[in-house]
Parts: sequence; C-alpha cells; structure tokens
Amino acid sequence: MKYSTFLIKYAEIAIKGKNRYVFEDALMHRMKLALKQAEGDFAVSKAQGRVYVDCNSEYDYDEVIAALSRVFGINAICPVVKVEYEDFDKLSADVVDYVREEYPDSTATFKVFARRANKAFPVHSTEMNSELGGAILDACPGMRVDVHNPEIELNVEVRESIFIYSKQIKGPGGMPVGTNGKAMLLLSGGIDSPVAGYMVAKRGVKIDAVYFHAPPYTSERAKQKVIDLAKQVAKYTGTICLHVINFTDIQLAIYEKCPHEELTIIMRRYMMRIAEHIAKENECLGLITGESIGQVASQTMHSLAVTNEVCSLPVLRPLIGFDKQEIIEVSEKIGTFETSILPYEDCCTIFVAKHPVTKPNLKMIKRSEERLADCIDALVKTALDTDEVINVI
Ligand code: ATP
Ligand code: MG
Repeated sequence: MKYSTFLIKYAEIAIKGKNRYVFEDALMHRMKLALKQAEGDFAVSKAQGRVYVDCNSEYDYDEVIAALSRVFGINAICPVVKVEYEDFDKLSADVVDYVREEYPDSTATFKVFARRANKAFPVHSTEMNSELGGAILDACPGMRVDVHNPEIELNVEVRESIFIYSKQIKGPGGMPVGTNGKAMLLLSGGIDSPVAGYMVAKRGVKIDAVYFHAPPYTSERAKQKVIDLAKQVAKYTGTICLHVINFTDIQLAIYEKCPHEELTIIMRRYMMRIAEHIAKENECLGLITGESIGQVASQTMHSLAVTNEVCSLPVLRPLIGFDKQEIIEVSEKIGTFETSILPYEDCCTIFVAKHPVTKPNLKMIKRSEERLADCIDALVKTALDTDEVINVI
C-alpha cells in the first residue's frame, strides 16, 4: 500500500490549555530530528489540531515507523492513503480499493468513521458513513458492519484531500523531549542507568550524562560501551552531551584513606557531588540515577539517604520500585540490554569491599571523609578540569 502521509496522534492530556503549541512545536521538532534517521524527504506540519508527516519522495516504510516510534509524545502513528475528490462514485471506489488492498479476503467487522473537516464538502458525514459502508459490503462479501465494537475502524476524513486510514501503530507515549527542562544522568555501563535515562526523557526531560571511569583499572572498551549505550538512548532522547570524568585518583585516595567497608558509599557521594557540579554548570535541574531500593548494599534506604545527603538538586530515581526483571524488560525493549551485559569492568566493581556497609551512619561517613581533607578538593578540581565532553548522536 502506498501511504503518502502519516497522521500522528498524541496524548490529549498534555495539550490542553495555553501550552498546546509548546507541546506541538516540540513534538514536531523531535519528529523532524528523528526522521533524519530515515532515507527520504519528509515534511512535518500541523493543521487543525493534528500533526502530519508528508512523504515527498520514495521512502522505506519500516524506517519511518521505526524513527517515529522513538519520538516521545506520539501515542499512535496512522499510515494514511490520500486521494483527491472528484465525485462520490470515485471516492467509493477509492475506499473499496483501500479496504481490498489492506484487508484482502477479510471476514472482519468494520465501521466507517467519516469526518468533514472541510465543511464545504457536499455530502454529510452520516450519509458518507452509510454510502461508503454499503459500497464496502457490496465489494467485500465476507465483511460485516458492527457499529459498537468493530474490528476495523475505517476513517475517511475530508480535508483539502481525502484521508483514508484504519491502522494505528503504537507510539512510545510520554511527552516530547525538551518540554520539561534538562537533567544529568549518571550513566554507567550497567543495565539500570540507560533505562533510568530513557524513563525520565519520556516525561519530556532533555538528558545530559556523566560517566566516571577509572583508567587503567577500567578499559577503553568499558568507556566505549558507555558511549554505545548513550548512542542507543540518544535515539529516543536526541543528542546526549556525555561528560567522561577520570575518577581514578579520587578512588585511589578513598581506597587508601577510608575504611574499606565504606568505600562504595563514599565513592557514590563523590560521584554525586561531581555530577551535581557539572549539572549546575549545564543548566540541569536534577540528577538521574538507576538506583532501585535494595538491589545492592549501596541502594538500601540507609545508603540512599547517605548518598542523597550531598545533593541539593532533586535526584530522580525512576527505577526505585522496579524489580530487576522489570528493568531488564525495558532495557530489551529500548535496545540497550545486549550492550549492557557485555562483560567489561566498571569502576564500582573494581574497588569493591568484601563486606560493604548496608546501614551506613552519616556521622561516621562524614568522619571518614575528613581523612581526605588534605587532597580531595584538588583531586575533584583536576577531575572537573579534565572532563572529556562527547556529543553522542
Ligand atoms: P547500573 O546498572 O546502572 O550500573 P547498578 O545496579 O550497577 O546500576 P550501582 O553500581 O550501585 O548500581 O550504581 C547505581 C547508580 O549509580 C547507577 O545506576 C548509575 O546511575 C550510577 N553509577 C554507578 N557507577 C557509575 C559510573 N561509573 N559512572 C556514572 N554513573 C554511575
Ligand atoms: Mg553499575
């Protein structure tokens, strides 16, 4: 079937009131960016509360659907066949052709939904419904009308041309990226943090990211893995500005001077401090982590409270109540799982204590951190000064 247009349906809730145009413009902007990933010439426009993609050249259907399926804010994508109106007989023939081609030998039930957006059109919608329904019944003997619960909803919309569509491909939902500020994702090579970034971006938040690496304890391949994960997440969020921070000397100092069972928690506190510093410098309004209660020692309620204590920005933890299996399901859906499970080392796993504290005491942790007083400011400064910024597209 030759579709010349895609009609985009979006969440009604987000577009009510004065913000409607902000939402629509952001959605269109994101759609245009996404369509650059597909071969062809496309025009994105809005008219009468709808957003459309017009295909002005040859294109690959699957590529277009794949690109649009990654744009947050889209609830459904409807491939449209556009026909020109000459007279009603020709329209009936076009509609019948559409049904025959889309549903060959079908025995499905259907209902025609005619709409006249162009009120100058001479035939009323109720009349169109019955005339077109009759034409389909005559031409497709296996099909039946069911006005209450039809299997096929055949839309015929009269605009400057006539739009015929009946299929809806599910979009990702959510809100267009950019309608809700920006946040800094702490992105590791694991399964959780890419999913966390995806989930917050789905609510319209633009994402920057920071990765802490510890060469030579962590390899270039481990860093590349994080870049690859960012690339996959960026298919949904748009370009991600990834900050790569060399964390080695800070980790070594903690390792040397602090009690080993407190390593992870102190390390996490420095990660959060540094992430927040970069976040504030880059107009991010919050931090995002892939933490989930109880998953590991550093993610008990006690540990989360102690980690959180160093931050003044809100820390978004969208996976907080998820089980591992639920997180894995999302990571498979968004295409990060395969990369996440590659077996490269992470700085958290290298400097790990045999028996990490699960109920850290804030006062004790602060006292341990005092042992770093003579060196930590300079080490943090160097880490920030040597921030490697990669624009991941
Ligand atoms: P993930 O699967 O996201 O790595 P995890 O289950 O391994 O999470 P932790 O290692 O405790 O959990 O890390 C908790 C969170 O801290 C991560 O989800 C991530 O947001 C952040 N984080 C951990 N290590 C790093 C790192 N090297 N660089 C950036 N962020 C990190
Ligand atoms: Mg990890």
